[in-house]
Amino acid sequence: MSIVLNKDQGVESELVERLGLECPYCGVYAHMSPQSVPDAAALLRDKPKHVGLVYQCDACHAPVFLRFTVREYSDNRVELLRNFIELERPKEKFAFSYLPKHTEVMFREALSCYSQNNFNAFASMCRRAAKSSFSALGEGGKLRAFEEVMAAQDIAGIDDETFAPIKAVLFGSGQEEDLPLLNRSQAGILLEIMKDMFYQCFVRHGKLTRAIKVRRFFVTEENNSSLQSA
Ligand SMILES: [Zn+2]
Repeated sequence: MSIVLNKDQGVESELVERLGLECPYCGVYAHMSPQSVPDAAALLRDKPKHVGLVYQCDACHAPVFLRFTVREYSDNRVELLRNFIELERPKEKFAFSYLPKHTEVMFREALSCYSQNNFNAFASMCRRAAKSSFSALGEGGKLRAFEEVMAAQDIAGIDDETFAPIKAVLFGSGQEEDLPLLNRSQAGILLEIMKDMFYQCFVRHGKLTRAIKVRRFFVTEENNSSLQSA
């Protein structure tokens, strides 16, 4: 399927209206309707390789910018390939407050690289974030994190070959310049593994101890008030 801009009619609407996307503003997976479409006559004159369209999120009405590759120019029509690049990606979220401060700074930057499609910058920041978290965990921290990651690989059923670059980024002993190059799909796996590793090593512990503290507090309060009323 492709998107066609005609010289006189603008976008062929029924093809475009089906576009569904996670909105970078409201985070909802919503329909996007074309809001600003380039003039086909100007495109036919200049013949750029890429074309930008602005869509409007049906949920929050924010403008969403997409870049398409031109498939073909013909007499009166410009045909675009259907796969596009999102110029603004939804921000990745995480319960950062449970992370050690230094790790939090590194991981925030890692997620920002990921959202910008800079997957190798993302991998480098993951290496730094992971290293920082190992020191924060103290002695045996790296081994503990390694065990969590192995468990995650097993749960997610990822084969060793696919997983090798992920492991190299997180636990490799080489220099940062020796990190393997990651593509979008490998970076996606690394992202989920990082989140899970941090969840197991920090968030789970933080949430659980906080929740138990709150329970104990209320039990003590109850005991105090029943003693007073007795
Ligand atoms: Zn939205």
